Amino acid sequence: LFINLIKKKRKRGIQEISSSTIFKFAYQDNVENVFHKELYKMAVLDAVTGIYNKRFFLDRLKEEFSHAKRFNIPLSLLMMDVDFFKKVNDTHGHLAGDCALAYLAKTLKDMVRGEDIVARYGGEEFSVILRGTPRKGAHLLAERIRKQVETHPCAFEDKKMPLTISFGVATLDSGNYKTYEAFIEASDKALYTSKHEGRNRTTMA
Ligand code: GH3
Ligand code: MG
Ligand code: MG
Repeated sequence: LFINLIKKKRKRGIQEISSSTIFKFAYQDNVENVFHKELYKMAVLDAVTGIYNKRFFLDRLKEEFSHAKRFNIPLSLLMMDVDFFKKVNDTHGHLAGDCALAYLAKTLKDMVRGEDIVARYGGEEFSVILRGTPRKGAHLLAERIRKQVETHPCAFEDKKMPLTISFGVATLDSGNYKTYEAFIEASDKALYTSKHEGRNRTTMA
């Protein structure tokens, strides 16, 4: 009966099972599936770097924040900003600047766990949500990434562009932040301190 229903539903879209039951279905072929996947990617990914965009990041942070708070699991947030990025654009051109952003996005993706969320927060600002990661682990990771970028210049055409980055890190632990906005603000403030104190460093909130 079910096979027959499937055959019929492909033809008509609606199948009456009895006078009181109607079976409605939507049939998607492979082309439609690919199309919907592409639409989804366009909505959540950043075009230059291929990582998540700010909108997706904020949605996920809200979810992760309330989950971590409810179950008393630590949650860390890295805010990262490229040092003197204007100068990179001015010296090497905008294409080289875009290439540097893609390189940094890849470095972040390669260095964090699969379940962590890497996003482009703004122009040359990136953010990473570290699930189940306490303060000490978040600090270690930020420093590992910072040193990797410092010691591995980004290659563009035949040029090598040295880059440094600054971090601000906040950790949600035992309900120390009331809202996810306060959590973001704390990591932002810590990032500002890193900039103020000379850049190429990590500051813990
Ligand atoms: P600081 O160390 O204080 O962060 O200095 P900065 O020069 O990085 O800071 P500022 O925020 O003043 O400049 C950021 C620059 O990033 C400005 C803009 O030209 C560049 N930028 C932002 N988005 C993009 C992008 O998508 N591509 C390129 N190539 N450059 C971008
Ligand atoms: Mg910058
Ligand atoms: Mg900036």
